[in-house]
Amino acid sequence: MPCKLAAGNWKMNGLRADLDELHKLVAMQPGPECGVLICPPATLLAPMAAIAEGSHVQLGGQDCHTDSSGAHTGDISATMLADAGARYVILGHSERRADHGEASSHVAAKARAAHTAGLIAIICVGETEAERDAGRTLEVVLAQLQGSTPDGANAANTVIAYEPVWAIGTGRTPTLEQIAEVHDALRAAVPDAGMSLLYGGSVKPGNAAEIFALDNVDGALVGGASLKAVDFGAIIAALDAA
Ligand code: PEP
Repeated sequence: MPCKLAAGNWKMNGLRADLDELHKLVAMQPGPECGVLICPPATLLAPMAAIAEGSHVQLGGQDCHTDSSGAHTGDISATMLADAGARYVILGHSERRADHGEASSHVAAKARAAHTAGLIAIICVGETEAERDAGRTLEVVLAQLQGSTPDGANAANTVIAYEPVWAIGTGRTPTLEQIAEVHDALRAAVPDAGMSLLYGGSVKPGNAAEIFALDNVDGALVGGASLKAVDFGAIIAALDAA
């Protein structure tokens, strides 16, 4: 059975002054079974690990290199993330695919490195607005899924996040029917039917419950609304109740 996960992606946001938000999350109710995850900028991973130790809040990275160490200035490896206290890593986020030209084959290589380091890979897929308008959503998403998921991916080491590019940070969300259509197709296509499927793209306290009520939605990858514990806490509570 897929388990429920509420994952927060802080992106390039967060200074030490914001660690208080993690203190607040740690003090909240444990939430759903797979738990609560915060993926902070790498600079906050170690201080967050100290705060979250022994709590229900898990930590993750936002990207990793394909190698475990070496001459790659500015990069971070999965081994380093694990060493700093991460349990997960987000891979193939559309911002990385767009800003850094990451192809699905590269995402698959990163996921392989994550698995080798003992991390759970959250592999992101999602169509642009032009692709949706052209009726290509399922074709694009399923091709990204197939190309980004390495051999050996299973429910224990991989989570899939469906994030329509046009819904990220825009306040716009697909209809529930559109989300259900993609999640049903992903459930049929994933290599292990027990993999958790997250929806991401402008999830907030006001729309979380109706999204989590959909059959093949097992949680959310949340950007902006994960920065404040009060908002993320409401989303976690909605997932717990679903
Ligand atoms: C994201 O960046 O993964 C995301 C879903 O962002 P937001 O919730 O802000 O749309």
